[in-house]
Amino acid sequence: MTLEILINLAYVVAAGLFILGLKLLSHPSTARKGNLVSAVGMLVAVIVTLLDQHIISYHYIFIGVLIGGLYGAWKARSVQMTQMPEMVSLFNGFGGAASLLLGWATVSSMDSEVLASTHFFIFVTVLLTLLIGGVTFSGSVIAWGKLSGKLSSKALIFTGLRELSLLHIVAMAAVGFLFVNEPSNMLWLYCTIAIGLSFGLWATISIGGADMPVVIALLNSYSGIAASAAGLAVGNTILIVTGLLVGASGLILTNIMCKAMNRSLMNVLLSGFSKPVEQGEAISGEIKVLSAQDAFYVLEAAQAVLVVPGYGMAVAQAQHAVRELHILLEENGCTVDYAIHAVAGRMPGHMNVLLAEADVPYDQLYEMDDVNPRMENYDVAIVIGANDVVNPAAKEMKGSPIYGMPVIEAYRAKTVFVLKRSANAGFAGVDNPLFFRENTRMILGDAKDTINSLIREFGD
Ligand code: NDP
Repeated sequence: MTLEILINLAYVVAAGLFILGLKLLSHPSTARKGNLVSAVGMLVAVIVTLLDQHIISYHYIFIGVLIGGLYGAWKARSVQMTQMPEMVSLFNGFGGAASLLLGWATVSSMDSEVLASTHFFIFVTVLLTLLIGGVTFSGSVIAWGKLSGKLSSKALIFTGLRELSLLHIVAMAAVGFLFVNEPSNMLWLYCTIAIGLSFGLWATISIGGADMPVVIALLNSYSGIAASAAGLAVGNTILIVTGLLVGASGLILTNIMCKAMNRSLMNVLLSGFSKPVEQGEAISGEIKVLSAQDAFYVLEAAQAVLVVPGYGMAVAQAQHAVRELHILLEENGCTVDYAIHAVAGRMPGHMNVLLAEADVPYDQLYEMDDVNPRMENYDVAIVIGANDVVNPAAKEMKGSPIYGMPVIEAYRAKTVFVLKRSANAGFAGVDNPLFFRENTRMILGDAKDTINSLIREFGD
């Protein structure tokens, strides 16, 4: 068997491991294994690629692997769960930047003879790598800034934004044409990179923070498409396959997120071009605050409780306390269900990951569509650090920026406990009429402290 056949076989094995890893990642109980299987696939792919290519010197590769590996290992251990979305955003951005650099290096390493004999198709793939890689990198950096609070999460909208975007599209087409026709002229290459970077920046900065879940999923898909185009440019099979897997799974996730927010992708991407929406009618009413002790009496008598977790549960790291309360409620003869909104928290599956960490059984987690029809059956809905995903304004206030987004209708439960520190708005910056409802009681404070107080009441 020749080395070439062995290498191709190893690529097939790596691709198989990626597909198996994705399959395992699709369920919380097998997700860890899926991550490990995919990581092994990546190790095989990297080793085989090093054997496959004509490497002049391993020095820089080893230095890069050492620095990147050490930094990655340190980051993976030190990152807070609540910072994961920003981290994922940065990963997407680095993926885009890596593809961009590969495209750049491919052309700049060609001498005039190679340039003249290289097929036109290769320059088209390099062009796609530069543009999509650039958009992914700058877009992801902006998404990282918005998610980490370093940039305002509000959509930056100004007069001329539409024209600026059209200008970018025309410029991309023009410079792309010039680059493919005259790849030896580095000016076109640099202009292509600059326009890709600039487009990613403006396209993302004009999208509001509330739409960031969709943007992250889309940028994830772009990073895969850029990698796939880079794979075509350098003739690397595994890069094409992995890029396509990331591109396709990112698109599927984008679609799921869009459905969860009742938005079309076009509507999200072009949201900066529409007129800014009004907050809607002002909310009036009185907030009724309850102590943990009084809340305990209600919970003690409850037969059916629904837990609705949100970003605040992640901030408070309250998942283990929630599980403890869950067990106490069940011992008291009460059924406990969980309602998980697809965009609760700050990343897809955020709540599932936290609850899995606290050993909450998967069969007690329900999607919004499963619990909403039977909401009236719950004696108490305990909203733990959730806000936007339970906001009735999404159903009832036409002028609201989140109008039309499907929400968990916790307000239809007999009693609603809202555990958060204040009546402040959530990520979308929209006031929440749920706090003023007749059947709502707010238990103010850090979610973990509140739940621990409830646990203590059960113990007394
Ligand atoms: P929200 O961001 O709407 O609300 C979270 C609430 O948690 C806040 O209002 C805050 O209120 C409260 N909170 C914060 N810290 C604590 C604490 N220590 N104890 C108790 N409460 C706390 O979260 P949701 O999960 O309801 O909605 C998610 C939002 O994030 C949606 O708008 C979604 O579009 C967006 N998003 C989702 C992503 C995803 O992929 N899932 C990615 C990016 C954005 P207070 O300050 O009063 O305590």
